[in-house]
Amino acid sequence: MEIQLIETMSAAEKLYEGKAKIVYHTEDTEIHRIVFKDSATAFNGSLMGKIEGKGEINCTISAALFECLSSIGIPTHYISRPQKNQMRVRAVKIIPLEVVVRNIAAGSLVHQTGLPEGKVLQSPLVEFYLKNDSLSDPLLTRDRLLLLDLTSPERLEQIEKMARNINQYLTDFFQRCRIILVDFKLEFGLDSQARLLLADEISPDTCRLWDATTTDPQERIMDKDRFRRNLPQVESAYQEVFERVLAQNKIGDISP
Ligand code: UDP
Repeated sequence: MEIQLIETMSAAEKLYEGKAKIVYHTEDTEIHRIVFKDSATAFNGSLMGKIEGKGEINCTISAALFECLSSIGIPTHYISRPQKNQMRVRAVKIIPLEVVVRNIAAGSLVHQTGLPEGKVLQSPLVEFYLKNDSLSDPLLTRDRLLLLDLTSPERLEQIEKMARNINQYLTDFFQRCRIILVDFKLEFGLDSQARLLLADEISPDTCRLWDATTTDPQERIMDKDRFRRNLPQVESAYQEVFERVLAQNKIGDISP
């Protein structure tokens, strides 16, 4: 009886609360539960707000994309979606790297290099940033990454290869949704058997998505840049991505 009570308590124990998600332990040490929140932040937390319905939308889009990616052999942490805004995932130790893949120049690439926004890159660019808010997530060189012992050279190669494969799949997927995948951020983790899994989320919070049906530079934005730039219709842009993704990939209803 006492053991049961302790187990129930630990089932709801919070492991980590981030800007957009809360990760909970479950009764199974190999499984975590992630609750996606409506709250939104940008510029390293200096802009804070809420995007109504975002939790459900990001959880559902991520679940659909993780299912697609696992069907083409990309191992992900996703297990199931017991609630519209909740995911059961394999417990992983996150590698503190933000892996950014870019197809078109935008955001920090434009600010740091002077490339014109919208320039199509000759081949996709894969970049690594240190996942560290207090250092403002700096761009890393390969040598710095290895110097910090964030991962081994072999693992790094595996991550880069996986990121490029994911980009190829997602670019085609979004194209079928009439959406241009400009760039996006991935995170990877290691499970208890040291297997590399794609983790975190893939959503309008972590991707730049441009509506292929318009060339208007503001109207086409369907992602968190609407929030970052204080543009109108943030919710409806997220909703539109949600509908187009689900029309392309019918994700099953919630399941335990
Ligand atoms: N990104 C993210 N989390 C971060 C930083 C970037 O999800 O902490 C995503 C961002 O939404 C974009 C891509 O990674 O799709 C590249 O972002 P960039 O380096 O251009 O930085 P930003 O301009 O967003 O600050």
